[in-house]
Amino acid sequence: MVRFTVLASGSKGNSTVVTGGKTRILVDAGLSCRELFRRMKLADEDPATLDAIIVTHEHSDHVAGLAVTARKLGIPVYFTEPTHRAWVRWLSPRKQMTYAQWLEQCRQQAAARMAEADAASADDCDPEEIETLADLTAKQEDSSTTDSTPAQKKKKKSEAERDPTALPVVHYFQAGKPLQIGDISVSPFTIPHDATDPVGFVFQAEGVRMALATDLGYIPPNVKAQLKSVDLLLLESNHDLEMLRDGPYPWSVKQRVLSRVGHLSNEACATYLEAEYDGQATYIVLGHLSESNNLPELARISAERALNGRASLLANRLLLAPQHEPLTSICF
Ligand SMILES: [Zn+2]
Ligand SMILES: [Zn+2]
Repeated sequence: MVRFTVLASGSKGNSTVVTGGKTRILVDAGLSCRELFRRMKLADEDPATLDAIIVTHEHSDHVAGLAVTARKLGIPVYFTEPTHRAWVRWLSPRKQMTYAQWLEQCRQQAAARMAEADAASADDCDPEEIETLADLTAKQEDSSTTDSTPAQKKKKKSEAERDPTALPVVHYFQAGKPLQIGDISVSPFTIPHDATDPVGFVFQAEGVRMALATDLGYIPPNVKAQLKSVDLLLLESNHDLEMLRDGPYPWSVKQRVLSRVGHLSNEACATYLEAEYDGQATYIVLGHLSESNNLPELARISAERALNGRASLLANRLLLAPQHEPLTSICF
């Protein structure tokens, strides 16, 4: 059984359940735990059967319900190490910076990193693929595997209550280095976005490949390489350029969204679908649509035109991932 259920997509929260074989992974937890569980039930997904949570990046629309959900289910969370650190720093009450200052710092770091990646992209090489590092386990130990006395358990519980960043287990992964979670193979890849170490994923189970790429300013060569030969493509179609330019956002925010580390426009999504996409997917899901600077119909028409008659019930079937309700599960 391979299944892909988008619970929410957009700047008010992102979360998707990927099922392969006997394994279920929650990709991002950008809604409250209560709302995530409510939507899972609506979509016929049982929260109690989740095996792990994996995180794309530390922006609040991807992690708002992360700690509570992981603690409630007692399941491990997979991060890149920089993303975990950034998330901890963001939740830490002792933080010295405002979130806006910290975001600006991340934006600058990401821009510098992508400039380096661009310089190295002549041979389509992701610089992070060169590095090798064994999977690391964070200092939090799996409390379920140690036999604690009731008093110790109580102490652990109160520690979790005091520390909003406490998680049952943390596993680290690296962009460019595939990992296995139960029956699902996961290939994380770097995306250009103003977070500390943002990634997209290709999930593979039972021969089915599903790609998830939202929150990216443009589609660099390493991402194009990952999006080849997928059966399902969840791609960002964030804003209509004209609506964003004429819309309500302050100039600085418009610049951020439009930047190389911002979000993918309908136009950029369409350019990719028309010129580069290999036409192999059964499903194309447009995601992370802006509620202020886009309309579902604009995103759909733009992508339909780009697919130029290739969209049908059998191939390149076009779906839109909503913000406020789950998208009907996609089964293979
Ligand atoms: Zn986002
Ligand atoms: Zn983001």
